[in-house]
Amino acid sequence: MSAELELTELLINGKQVPSADGRSFTVVDPSDGTAIAQVALGGKADVDQAVAAARAAFTSPEWAGMRAADRGRILYRIAEAIRYQGERLARLESQDVGKPLRQAKADVEAAARYFEFYAGAADKLGGTTIPLGPGLIDYTVREPIGVSGQIIPFNYPLQNTARGSAPALAAGCTVVLKPSPEAPLTPLEIGRIALECGLPPGVLNVVPGDGETGAALAGHPDINQVTFTGSVPTGIKVAQAAAANVVPSVTELGGKSPVVVFADADFDLALTAVAASAFGNAGQTCSAGTRLLLQRGAEEFLEKLVAHAASLRVGPGLSDPDIGPLVAARQRDRVLSYLDVARQEGGTVRVGGAPSDPALADGYFVAPTVLTGLTNDARCAREEIFGPVVTVIEFDEVEEALDIANDSPYGLASYVWTRDIDKAMRLAEGIRAGQVYVNATGVGTGVELPFGGYKHSGWGREKGLAGLDSYLQTKNVCIGFGSRS
Ligand code: NAD
Repeated sequence: MSAELELTELLINGKQVPSADGRSFTVVDPSDGTAIAQVALGGKADVDQAVAAARAAFTSPEWAGMRAADRGRILYRIAEAIRYQGERLARLESQDVGKPLRQAKADVEAAARYFEFYAGAADKLGGTTIPLGPGLIDYTVREPIGVSGQIIPFNYPLQNTARGSAPALAAGCTVVLKPSPEAPLTPLEIGRIALECGLPPGVLNVVPGDGETGAALAGHPDINQVTFTGSVPTGIKVAQAAAANVVPSVTELGGKSPVVVFADADFDLALTAVAASAFGNAGQTCSAGTRLLLQRGAEEFLEKLVAHAASLRVGPGLSDPDIGPLVAARQRDRVLSYLDVARQEGGTVRVGGAPSDPALADGYFVAPTVLTGLTNDARCAREEIFGPVVTVIEFDEVEEALDIANDSPYGLASYVWTRDIDKAMRLAEGIRAGQVYVNATGVGTGVELPFGGYKHSGWGREKGLAGLDSYLQTKNVCIGFGSRS
């Protein structure tokens, strides 16, 4: 353990505790590789304790006996506390993940919005009555599903913590959350803030750890639901582990989202949005628009994009550049190896790659990169690179664009830029993806919009009112009365 860093502990049953076996891990600032925190590494014993705490809290009078409106009130308080502590949270997020400070501030606001949005829903989760005829009354009750195990990735720790825990808590569930070992700091902060805002102990437990910790949670026999956000291979393992206990799961997995730019599009409007989608958070965004389907005749847009990418400032997150480092050396190396693959497959790196600035040598940086000369069969068009890399693929006609957009194992998000309503509607109708944006991208923070995958991008929906469904189950009550024929 690093001598100068105080141990950041797990949060179980309302208390900060070291891991049962005393293990811990070092968190580094990806902009220069320096150690910024020493965090307790949760193991199976810690997961067991956290699940036991969440199980007890689920039926406790303090939580199960709380009126729905009061649950909502606590969530509102959490939202406000997140905003109040926003500057500190944003700096922590920026240093932990590497993202530019203003992006981290936007993530703070999104996290607050999740709690606020679901706070308002807590006392509106009513059922229905079903007409059966005289002498019978039938109604449904929407009950919390129980203990939710939540496993999140490294790229949006603040947002993902809020996105999963806020609807679960609004529904009356309790939560055990396992953050990524690459970005565990702000999820622990949210757990502490929630306690300060009056959430009873054991209702939200945070246990940072590695894959083994996640596996212990996903396969735990005493949880009732799993929300997983991460890569496809891990998602498959998590879903299998949950299914072995007949536990339902939501899987929010990867993407290779198409951005279709027609020659008639408003290039200036599209440019900043397309660049932000592909390069924001250093391209480590599941819904990033990383396949640019460009209509022949729209070459001017490509030139604008290349010039724009070259103009973006790369630097440490806390210096608030346009592009920060990738989260880890392994992620940087993986991204750069894809540029070699692109060249081997006949592609051209028009701009980007490893930055030459010696001041960035200790960090895990990749400059905004545009690949051309490839088709949709190339690996860089099919596989999720998870870095600031956009692959350009040319097309002529609307139907061809639709075929290419759908020719992917993924189906998370999609983006269409055109002034022609017929083209826009044809793609909105035909694209097999969970979200379609036309002349827009990531409207607001997207908190209100149902989000989730088709195909290998996963199943289930988070965000919006649809995000509550995973945390509720329907009980039907049928009552006969009087004498019936
Ligand atoms: P990852 O799959 O490597 O890890 C995700 C989480 O799973 C981490 O907390 C990790 O410790 C844990 N884990 C690892 N092995 C496990 C196991 N066997 N059982 C249970 N848990 C285990 O993903 P990552 O590299 O952290 O994140 C990048 C991926 O996440 C990308 O594919 C990205 O598209 C995806 N992602 C998807 C969304 C979405 O909403 N669809 C959002 C963000 C990120």
